[in-house]
Amino acid sequence: MAPCECGAPAGPLGACADYYHSILAEEQRDPVMYRWHPVVVCVYLLQHPSRGHDKHLDGQFRLLQFYLHRGLDALLRFRAHQVARNNHRSRAGYDMLPLEPYAPLPAGGPPERFRMSFCELPYGDGGFVLDGHEAYGERMRVLAEATQEAWKSIGPGPREPG
Ligand SMILES: [Zn+2]
Repeated sequence: MAPCECGAPAGPLGACADYYHSILAEEQRDPVMYRWHPVVVCVYLLQHPSRGHDKHLDGQFRLLQFYLHRGLDALLRFRAHQVARNNHRSRAGYDMLPLEPYAPLPAGGPPERFRMSFCELPYGDGGFVLDGHEAYGERMRVLAEATQEAWKSIGPGPREPG
Protein backbone atom coordinates (compact mmCIF):
# COMPACT_ATOMS: atom_id res chain seq x y z
CA MET A 1 0.00 0.00 0.00
CA ALA A 2 1.34 3.47 -0.90
CA PRO A 3 2.14 5.76 2.03
CA CYS A 4 -0.66 8.04 3.15
CA GLU A 5 -0.82 11.73 2.24
CA CYS A 6 0.66 12.43 5.69
CA GLY A 7 3.66 10.26 4.85
CA ALA A 8 2.86 7.51 7.36
CA PRO A 9 2.72 3.82 6.45
CA ALA A 10 -0.60 2.06 7.16
CA GLY A 11 -1.20 0.51 10.58
CA PRO A 12 -3.07 -2.67 11.58
CA LEU A 13 -6.49 -1.05 10.96
CA GLY A 14 -5.46 0.36 7.58
CA ALA A 15 -4.69 3.91 6.41
CA CYS A 16 -5.35 7.07 8.43
CA ALA A 17 -8.79 7.39 6.81
CA ASP A 18 -9.76 4.03 8.30
CA TYR A 19 -8.56 5.14 11.73
CA TYR A 20 -10.34 8.48 11.39
CA HIS A 21 -13.68 6.91 10.48
CA SER A 22 -13.36 4.35 13.26
CA ILE A 23 -12.76 7.16 15.77
CA LEU A 24 -15.77 9.12 14.45
CA ALA A 25 -17.96 6.04 14.88
CA GLU A 26 -16.61 5.22 18.35
CA GLU A 27 -16.92 8.76 19.73
CA GLN A 28 -20.61 8.83 18.70
CA ARG A 29 -21.19 6.21 21.39
CA ASP A 30 -18.91 7.80 24.00
CA PRO A 31 -19.72 11.38 25.10
CA VAL A 32 -16.45 11.75 27.03
CA MET A 33 -14.37 10.69 24.04
CA TYR A 34 -16.49 13.03 21.89
CA ARG A 35 -15.05 16.02 23.79
CA TRP A 36 -11.91 15.66 21.63
CA HIS A 37 -13.95 15.63 18.40
CA PRO A 38 -12.87 19.10 17.22
CA VAL A 39 -9.22 18.19 17.85
CA VAL A 40 -9.62 14.94 15.87
CA VAL A 41 -11.14 16.78 12.90
CA CYS A 42 -8.55 19.61 12.87
CA VAL A 43 -5.62 17.22 13.13
CA TYR A 44 -6.96 14.89 10.44
CA LEU A 45 -7.57 17.68 7.95
CA LEU A 46 -4.25 19.40 8.66
CA GLN A 47 -2.44 16.11 8.08
CA HIS A 48 -4.59 15.29 5.02
CA PRO A 49 -5.57 18.64 3.42
CA SER A 50 -6.89 16.97 0.25
CA ARG A 51 -9.78 15.60 2.38
CA GLY A 52 -11.03 19.04 3.37
CA HIS A 53 -11.41 22.56 2.00
CA ASP A 54 -8.44 24.88 1.53
CA LYS A 55 -10.43 27.89 2.71
CA HIS A 56 -11.02 26.33 6.14
CA LEU A 57 -7.48 25.11 6.73
CA ASP A 58 -6.15 28.40 8.14
CA GLY A 59 -8.99 28.49 10.71
CA GLN A 60 -8.34 24.87 11.62
CA PHE A 61 -4.63 25.57 12.10
CA ARG A 62 -5.41 28.51 14.40
CA LEU A 63 -8.00 26.46 16.30
CA LEU A 64 -5.40 23.77 16.91
CA GLN A 65 -2.97 26.37 18.28
CA PHE A 66 -5.74 27.79 20.46
CA TYR A 67 -6.35 24.29 21.89
CA LEU A 68 -2.67 23.64 22.59
CA HIS A 69 -2.31 27.05 24.21
CA ARG A 70 -5.55 27.26 26.23
CA GLY A 71 -6.60 23.61 26.66
CA LEU A 72 -9.63 21.47 25.82
CA ASP A 73 -12.13 23.21 28.13
CA ALA A 74 -11.36 26.58 26.56
CA LEU A 75 -11.71 25.05 23.09
CA LEU A 76 -15.12 23.58 23.96
CA ARG A 77 -16.28 26.91 25.44
CA PHE A 78 -15.15 28.70 22.29
CA ARG A 79 -17.03 26.20 20.09
CA ALA A 80 -20.21 26.44 22.20
CA HIS A 81 -20.02 30.22 22.01
CA GLN A 82 -19.71 30.02 18.20
CA VAL A 83 -22.73 27.73 17.91
CA ALA A 84 -24.87 29.91 20.19
CA ARG A 85 -23.86 33.03 18.33
CA ASN A 86 -24.67 31.40 15.02
CA ASN A 87 -28.09 30.26 16.21
CA HIS A 88 -29.16 33.56 17.73
CA ARG A 89 -27.94 35.85 15.03
CA SER A 90 -27.74 33.69 11.98
CA ARG A 91 -26.25 36.45 9.85
CA ALA A 92 -23.63 37.61 12.30
CA GLY A 93 -21.27 34.81 11.39
CA TYR A 94 -18.56 33.39 13.55
CA ASP A 95 -16.55 35.37 16.05
CA MET A 96 -13.01 34.71 14.92
CA LEU A 97 -11.40 37.33 17.18
CA PRO A 98 -10.05 34.77 19.70
CA LEU A 99 -8.15 33.06 16.87
CA GLU A 100 -6.49 36.21 15.53
CA PRO A 101 -3.40 36.15 17.78
CA TYR A 102 -2.37 32.76 16.38
CA ALA A 103 -0.03 32.12 13.46
CA PRO A 104 -1.61 31.87 10.01
CA LEU A 105 -1.20 28.67 8.02
CA PRO A 106 2.26 28.65 6.41
CA ALA A 107 2.39 28.59 2.61
CA GLY A 108 4.02 25.64 0.88
CA GLY A 109 2.35 22.85 2.84
CA PRO A 110 1.41 20.25 3.66
CA PRO A 111 4.47 18.97 5.52
CA GLU A 112 5.89 15.69 4.24
CA ARG A 113 5.94 13.90 7.58
CA PHE A 114 4.48 14.25 11.07
CA ARG A 115 6.03 12.98 14.27
CA MET A 116 2.75 11.15 15.01
CA SER A 117 -0.06 10.00 12.69
CA PHE A 118 -3.53 8.53 13.07
CA CYS A 119 -2.44 5.09 11.91
CA GLU A 120 0.02 4.93 14.82
CA LEU A 121 -2.77 5.19 17.41
CA PRO A 122 -3.13 2.08 19.56
CA TYR A 123 -6.36 0.13 19.22
CA GLY A 124 -7.48 -2.76 21.40
CA ASP A 125 -10.21 -3.98 23.74
CA GLY A 126 -12.31 -0.89 24.31
CA GLY A 127 -11.35 0.56 20.92
CA PHE A 128 -9.26 3.72 20.92
CA VAL A 129 -9.97 4.36 24.60
CA LEU A 130 -8.33 1.08 25.56
CA ASP A 131 -6.50 2.62 28.53
CA GLY A 132 -8.94 5.30 29.67
CA HIS A 133 -10.06 8.73 28.55
CA GLU A 134 -7.17 10.58 30.13
CA ALA A 135 -4.62 8.55 28.17
CA TYR A 136 -6.69 8.93 25.00
CA GLY A 137 -6.82 12.70 25.52
CA GLU A 138 -3.09 12.82 26.05
CA ARG A 139 -2.55 11.02 22.72
CA MET A 140 -4.82 13.57 21.03
CA ARG A 141 -2.71 16.37 22.53
CA VAL A 142 0.52 14.77 21.26
CA LEU A 143 -1.06 14.31 17.84
CA ALA A 144 -2.08 17.98 17.83
CA GLU A 145 1.41 19.04 18.92
CA ALA A 146 3.04 16.95 16.17
CA THR A 147 0.73 18.57 13.63
CA GLN A 148 1.40 22.11 14.80
CA GLU A 149 5.16 21.48 14.92
CA ALA A 150 5.34 20.06 11.37
CA TRP A 151 3.35 22.94 9.88
CA LYS A 152 5.34 25.58 11.75
CA SER A 153 8.59 23.98 10.57
CA ILE A 154 7.84 24.73 6.90
CA GLY A 155 7.78 28.50 7.27
CA PRO A 156 6.49 31.62 8.94
CA GLY A 157 3.38 31.83 6.76
CA PRO A 158 2.17 34.54 4.41
CA ARG A 159 2.61 38.15 5.48
CA GLU A 160 -0.45 39.88 6.82
CA PRO A 161 -1.75 42.50 4.35
CA GLY A 162 -0.78 46.09 5.21
ZN1 LIG B 1 -2.23 9.75 6.90
